[in-house]
Parts: sequence; C-alpha cells; structure tokens
Amino acid sequence: MALIVQKFGGSSVANAERVFNVASIITDTYKKGNNVVVVVSAQGDTTDDLIEKAKEINPNASKREMDMLLTAGEQISISLLAMAIEKLGCPVISLLGWQAGFKTNSAYGSARISEVTPDRLQKELDGKKIVIVAGFQGLNKYDDMTTLGRGGSDTSAVAIAAALHADRCQIFTDVTGVYTADPRKVENAQKLKDITYDEMLEFATLGAQVLNNRSVEMAKKYNVELEVLSSLVREDGTIVREVANMEKMLIRGVTKDTDIARISVVGMKDIPGNAFKMFSRLAQKGINIDVILQSVGRDGTKDISFTCASSNADDAVAILKDIFDMEGAVVSSDTTVAKVSIVGAGMQSHSGTASKMFGALYEAGININMISTSEITISVLIDKEYADKAVSAVHKAFFG
Ligand code: ADP
Ligand code: ASP
Ligand code: MG
Repeated sequence: MALIVQKFGGSSVANAERVFNVASIITDTYKKGNNVVVVVSAQGDTTDDLIEKAKEINPNASKREMDMLLTAGEQISISLLAMAIEKLGCPVISLLGWQAGFKTNSAYGSARISEVTPDRLQKELDGKKIVIVAGFQGLNKYDDMTTLGRGGSDTSAVAIAAALHADRCQIFTDVTGVYTADPRKVENAQKLKDITYDEMLEFATLGAQVLNNRSVEMAKKYNVELEVLSSLVREDGTIVREVANMEKMLIRGVTKDTDIARISVVGMKDIPGNAFKMFSRLAQKGINIDVILQSVGRDGTKDISFTCASSNADDAVAILKDIFDMEGAVVSSDTTVAKVSIVGAGMQSHSGTASKMFGALYEAGININMISTSEITISVLIDKEYADKAVSAVHKAFFG
C-alpha cells in the first residue's frame, strides 16, 4: 500500500464532466489499495473571475480581503469533487488549507508555507478516507486565510507529499507532461521523459507555467519526485528528479516571460555606491531583480537598466525616483519587453549554445536588447511583440 498525493489544476476540474473524470482517477487509485490525498485548484478561470469581481468593487482592495475572496475558489472545488467521489461510492472528506494543517507567513497574496502539521490528514487517512485538500491556501499567525501566489496549488501538493513522506506526488494538468516549449504555442514541442529539479526550477521561473517554481524549489529541498501528467489523456508524463537522463540533449527547452518590465536610470553620477544604493533599496521592498546592464561611464555619468516583474514596475520606479531625482538622473519603465530563455544543464559542457540561440534570433530578424546567462540558462530581452516568433525560431534551431 502506497501513499499517493495527486494534484489537479483548474482546467482538470473546470466542469461537472471533468470533476467526474478526476473523481474516477482518484477512486481508481484508491481502489488499488492506496492511501490518497488530493490537492485541487479552483475550477477553470474561477480565480481570475474573482479578481475581476473584486476590481468592480474596489480596485485597491487590501491584500487581506483579496485572500479571503480568492480562497473561496478552492472551497468550491474541494466540496464538489468530494461530492462526486461520494457518488462513486468511496469514503471521502474535503478540507480547507487550515484544516489540513497549512501554516504560512503573513504575506497575503504570496504567502510562504512555514509548516504543515498533518495530524488531521493522518487521522482521516487512518479512517480509510480519500482526503481532498484546498490548494493555494493556508492560515497565518493572526488566524487569517492567506494565498500562496498564482499557481500555488502545486506547492500545496508538494508540501503535503513532503510532510506525509508520500511515495508519489503526481501533478495532473491539461498537457501530458513538461515539453521543450509550451505545446499549445510551439508545434514541434517534444515531451521530456525527465528533467532535473535545477532545470525545472529555472524553466518554471523563466516562464514555463506548467509547474509553479516554488513547488519545484520545495520538491528539491525535500527530495519529492514529481510526475507531471495529463488528467485527460492517460499516458506517461514527465518525471522531475535530482538526476535526469540527459538523452544527449544540449538544452531542455525554450520559454518566454512577457510579464516583465525594464527599468532604466539614465544619467546617474558615475561614483561608487550607486548600484548598491539602488539594489539594496529594491531588495528591502522585496523586489526581485533580473537581467542587469550597466553602461560604460561617460562625461561623469552612467546608466543602469534591469528587469523585474511588471507588477513591481511602479514600486521600483517610485523607489528609484526617490533616490535619483535629486541627481538629475531620469528613471523610466518599459513594459513592452519580453524575456526569452533557453534552459539545460547540457550547455555547461558544450560551446556554441549562445551563438546558436543568437543566430536563430538574427535569422528571424529579432533584435536583442539585453543578455544574461547562468550555468544552465541563457536569456535575452527582446520586444514583446516578437516573443512567440522568437520562441519558435530558437526552438526550431535546437529541436528541428
Ligand atoms: P493547471 O491549471 O493544471 O495548474 P497550468 O495552466 O498552470 O495548469 O499549466 C499548464 C499549462 O502550462 C499548459 O496548458 C501549457 O500551455 C503551459 N506550458 C507552458 N510551458 C510549458 C511547457 N514547457 N511544457 C508544458 N506545458 C507548458
Ligand atoms: N487557483 C489558483 C490560481 O489560479 C491556484 C492554482 O491554480 O494553483 O492561481
Ligand atoms: Mg498551474
């Protein structure tokens, strides 16, 4: 008898037919003699719809009230799924995040899980019940509900798998695994048999939304092997683990992030300490910085630009204006940019990976604004309107 955690995303439970489809996957697993804990997301576009509803009432609603609202999406899906399983004749109970023991910090809207106390989960499993847990939510020290950030149900599933030392953690979604590029956008995208935590973490962070990056981070930390597979098509998915079969692959995939902004400070004094001042103030505000470019000093001034999430752009500009307006430097933000990246541990031992990527962009007539690299990634900043074209061109260069 194994303990299996199964997570189903919003599209997998979007309507009654899909809820019953998922219920049958769960009950099949249960009837084979396994203990099953299920994590489920809100149905279809429920979370987006709730956000729209809130905007109609108050576009500046507090994050605390937003979380109170958004947690309702998962409350609907857990109860409906439990009802479907009741109808299929298996013992089942649905639990909200706090009932399942999820404690988080107080960062409403992007809370981090501090601990999962699985006593109630264990009690229900001991009572031979299938347990359905609301993803994406927990409780902070003020006994308020929090959410974990968009796509956070993946992280809920991994946290339960870690807390219960589950034998398997399956992430069911609407595609059959992790592909070399978004299979909905890139025709020749190929399914990967497996991928390492480090590669998947970069892939997710750089835009491949199939797994939430925090879930991969947590899976690596607690050594939870993940299987990404389809709830609609029954075939083997992709395994995410510490060591993966490289299959002589130079790179694992191509991805894009269009939710970014480029912030520029032009004409700052060319003196020591300015970069430190900038980035320490941004860090204090919790703003994550990515690709950074500094110009060569000229006439006693220099320019620095960097990218951050577009949701942080206004805050970043306000902070930098506060620092640099006095000096006469000009701060601006530009959200018409996108980041296109390739990811793969294979590039460490091969030269020519960057030139292959840049060559593909050149042939597609796409201009590169900024470049950044790590051991297993190369990212370029380009005009947003060419993002899809760039992903396809780069994908074609590496995967034919
Ligand atoms: P869920 O609702 O199940 O959490 P998501 O929408 O969050 O599903 O993630 C699945 C989607 O991720 C797919 O429909 C696909 O379009 C997208 N995606 C982006 N990049 C990739 C990739 N490299 N491999 C697979 N899917 C990807
Ligand atoms: N329902 C949440 C969202 O849409 C959490 C998730 O789907 O993982 O982001
Ligand atoms: Mg998701």
